[in-house]
Amino acid sequence: MAKDVKIGLEVHGYLITKEKLFCRCRAIRHSAKENIKPNTFVCPICCGYPGSKPMLPNAEAIKKIVQIALMLKCKVNTAEQKKSLVWQRKHYNWPDLPKGYQNTISGAYSVPVAENGIFENARIREIHLEEDPASWNPETGCIDYNRSGLPLAEIVTEPDFCSAEDVVEWLKQLILTLSYIKAVDKNAGIKADVNVSIGKKSGAERVEIKNINSIENIKKAVEFEIARQEKEGTLRETRRFDEQSGKTMKMREKEESADYRFIPDPDLPVIKISGKVVKEIMERLPETPQEKLQKLVKKHKIDKKSAEVLSKNLEIVEFFEDVSEKIPADFALPWVVVELLRVLNWNKKTLEEVDIKPEHFIELLEAVKNKGITELKAKQILNSFVPSSFSIKQKLKGAGRITDKKEIEKICKQAIEKNPQAILDLKEGKQEALNFLLGEIMKLSQRRAD
Ligand code: ADP
Ligand code: ZN
Ligand code: MG
Repeated sequence: MAKDVKIGLEVHGYLITKEKLFCRCRAIRHSAKENIKPNTFVCPICCGYPGSKPMLPNAEAIKKIVQIALMLKCKVNTAEQKKSLVWQRKHYNWPDLPKGYQNTISGAYSVPVAENGIFENARIREIHLEEDPASWNPETGCIDYNRSGLPLAEIVTEPDFCSAEDVVEWLKQLILTLSYIKAVDKNAGIKADVNVSIGKKSGAERVEIKNINSIENIKKAVEFEIARQEKEGTLRETRRFDEQSGKTMKMREKEESADYRFIPDPDLPVIKISGKVVKEIMERLPETPQEKLQKLVKKHKIDKKSAEVLSKNLEIVEFFEDVSEKIPADFALPWVVVELLRVLNWNKKTLEEVDIKPEHFIELLEAVKNKGITELKAKQILNSFVPSSFSIKQKLKGAGRITDKKEIEKICKQAIEKNPQAILDLKEGKQEALNFLLGEIMKLSQRRAD
């Protein structure tokens, strides 16, 4: 392994808001993207028409960025500390940015929304709020402004990582933690600029790899870059990651912040966040995944492995908590972590994308628990809970377990009559034939025979 590897990240994530940052256009969620035509949610502001002016910045976006900052243990810069957040214009000339600048609360001399945090052993240098440019396809020349003006969070770490694995693990934890505050669109993934250096000289010489768009590619880029710098040394430059070849390529010598000609935007008000608001947001901050895990183990007496599975997904764990209000946790556990996840996986859906109500799930488990129906029958009903669940009371009529010996005998006889070959096989001692017959009996009884 290379010595003195340092890696620092600038991570971008989409904030979940109803509207864009400086106009009232709908902010589409990433999961809805496929169904939406390019340039549907646009207006003169987010298309950068000459003469258009931004509206007041979206308060929801500001609240969410403060939540993120607090979740990552940063100090928020408040009015009481005489800190004002100034919207800067960061200039560059690119087809995805027709107004010629990006609005951002970052850059030379600016006060970031928050700074000096720590998350999972990596120090957070600062957190910014900025707008996303449009998306531009250099091959077709088409530009889609649906994305233009969406609020983005930028999280800048200190160079505290020393391997690709470190970075990957940390990013996964970050995405999970931020999904708990429902502040960042986890389906949109993250984009990051990744800074890598080798050697003791601190800071000056490092390579910045721009705009890598998945954890997998971040891992590949870091690994490639460490190996490359070991051979070629570390120079200050900007590179990009080429997905095809798995290599990083030189784009340009590092740009200086002067190149962006940052100036305060005269069309946007300075933001002052009050300490009182920060305190209120702090008090309502949801649990972290770690806290949730602890609670599952302590309160519900769930083994650590299952608790980890549950806490990896906020929707699932909240669903489980709802269900265990009524059903003992140990009984509910396999039904959630095995059966529910099985059904979702089979349908290639997340819990968010279907409409399975905890009360219907509870009804189902109660029916199993009070021996009204067999587990097999319950699993069958659960299968039909996608796309939406229903009250099973209706279904339960005539779906109860059959325990009456006579009735079961009758069904067995039917199975025997229908399958003479299986009986012959069984007589020859073929064990599979017995399993087959048992299957037939379950089918004939509509999975009700016990
Ligand atoms: P810029 O504004 O040029 O992008 P910053 O000083 O804001 O530069 O730092 C950006 C990122 O570079 C931060 O994530 C930081 O952790 C990282 N970084 C700083 N020094 C080093 C280094 N020696 N090796 C790797 N990354 C570094
Ligand atoms: Zn708009
Ligand atoms: Mg940078």
